[in-house]
Amino acid sequence: MNLIDYLPVVPDFPKPGIFFRDISPLLANPIAFQHAIDQMSLLALEFEFSHILGIESRGFIFASALAYRNQKGLALARKPNKLPQASHRQSFGLEYGNDSLELQQAALPADAKVLIIDDVLATGGTIVAAKKLLESAGFRIAGALSLLEIRFLNGLQLLNQHQIEHKTVLT
Ligand code: 5GP
Repeated sequence: MNLIDYLPVVPDFPKPGIFFRDISPLLANPIAFQHAIDQMSLLALEFEFSHILGIESRGFIFASALAYRNQKGLALARKPNKLPQASHRQSFGLEYGNDSLELQQAALPADAKVLIIDDVLATGGTIVAAKKLLESAGFRIAGALSLLEIRFLNGLQLLNQHQIEHKTVLT
């Protein structure tokens, strides 16, 4: 099964000039979604980690399935002002705008070693922000895992600069 066939490119979304990979067809196909989780789960085994951090919102889908599958605790990096308890915040630039992520201080135990999960690695800004967020909250990072890396945006280079080990199912 070629998973990339289930991730069609949508031109000019969310802004002109952006070619967006839509994950909806993959999610709608139970075999493709199961295969994606199986593949991500195998890659996750190459990291030493105690907890998973899912990035809002598409990252949540993969992070929660992987937390269940690999029997790990799950924490959520959320868009601003969604969390009920004291939180850390990290702002960052996106390919198509600016954003912030927040993490509740009490979301993880102090000795957590965290694997960051997202659907897509594009420029890498989101995963770098997630790493800074985890570090500002005092947690250790195991690395990052995505379903798809959009190669020409050189996200891997940025992650290397920030010493983040990254694995992906598709490039
Ligand atoms: P980055 O910060 O690496 O530039 O962008 C990655 C973030 O933006 C991820 O959270 C991801 O969900 C979203 N993203 C960027 N480009 C795409 C895309 O083509 N398809 C999908 N599904 N998400 C994207």
